[in-house]
Amino acid sequence: MNVKIVLLPGDGIGPEVVTEAVKVLNAICDMYGHKFEYTERPIGGVAIDIAGTALPDETLQACQSADAVLLGAVGGPKWSDPSAAVRPEQGLLGIREGLGLYANLRPVRVYDELADSSSLKTETISGVDLLVVRELTGGIYFGKRQEGSETAYDTMIYSNAEVQRIAHVAFKAAMKRRKKVASIDKANVLASSRLWRRVVEGVAVDYPEVTLEHMLVDSAAMKLIRYPAEFDVIVTANMFGDILTDEASMLSGSLGMLPSASLGDGKAGMYEPVHGSAPDIAGKALANPIGAIMSAAMLLRTSLGLDQEAKTVEWAVEDVLSRGYRTADIAKPEDRHVGTSEMGNLVVKAMQRRKDAK
Ligand code: NAD
Repeated sequence: MNVKIVLLPGDGIGPEVVTEAVKVLNAICDMYGHKFEYTERPIGGVAIDIAGTALPDETLQACQSADAVLLGAVGGPKWSDPSAAVRPEQGLLGIREGLGLYANLRPVRVYDELADSSSLKTETISGVDLLVVRELTGGIYFGKRQEGSETAYDTMIYSNAEVQRIAHVAFKAAMKRRKKVASIDKANVLASSRLWRRVVEGVAVDYPEVTLEHMLVDSAAMKLIRYPAEFDVIVTANMFGDILTDEASMLSGSLGMLPSASLGDGKAGMYEPVHGSAPDIAGKALANPIGAIMSAAMLLRTSLGLDQEAKTVEWAVEDVLSRGYRTADIAKPEDRHVGTSEMGNLVVKAMQRRKDAK
């Protein structure tokens, strides 16, 4: 299989974790006979330094003709002035828009081995395995707004078509999981949420095997902390998803563990760890590369249809954790402490062991 992958390492720990994810993808090529062709392009702060913009045209064009994009992270203190006209996160927004990526998928899984690194009780988070599907290109972040000295407003607009397409993503994902969808809104107050609810009900008819539950966002925020293991797929609007995904990310204990995918109508998608550029640990070999490695596994499965290969990566990550290897963010004194690159090497070795055992 010949595949074009664009790498956008970005800033801070971005390049460090992308290097480890590429190590894993290269091992997949060696093991299964695929050929991945990589093109590396600047985005975020590093692109501002080189080209004066967070998303140079060549970066977007390369992504538009790729089978998949793997991103590290953008941002850092050097470019953090919120009033600056050019800011690193414009790179992310521009690429989502440029590639039509309207669905953001964030799986959150609590590994048994790491259950005690969460700030919640082990019995509360044991067995958590959920997927948040967040609408990414509509809603209040994109509606008309006005800011005056006395008043200001933002508008939350959703169309039938926008809700339908994100709902289909969620129901399709649920069909491959435990067949439960929680649709989260604020239908007791917001008109856009009442439309959201109606449209999701309509889409649910196409998936009779899936159980649909509607939940108000305030109650969902509480349940996510109290009974997180009860959730399977969550589907929600842009702003609610923004907040709930950060809340859900803390179930796992470290931001460094979590992957994400942003998808549009085609197969091409953008894959990135959930964490940011972590300037406090950049360049110190302390970054946990598992979020980036698991993003590579999502890339294999979702954009390339390589399910077996994705499973090999996931199995290897679990194997390395079960043997007690930990980067600093998830380590206790009795664990085997490893750096960023060593963790990548261990995952590759575990993948090879699995292949040899077959
Ligand atoms: P952050 O995710 O970068 O870091 C939060 C904390 O988690 C830090 O203590 C960091 O050391 C730790 N951490 C994050 N990833 C880790 C990993 N892989 N291994 C070990 N520890 C890890 O969030 P922040 O500090 O709020 O933001 C830093 C910069 O990143 C800002 O400029 C922000 O705008 C940017 N940011 C970018 C993205 C993105 O590119 N998608 C997302 C969030 C924040």
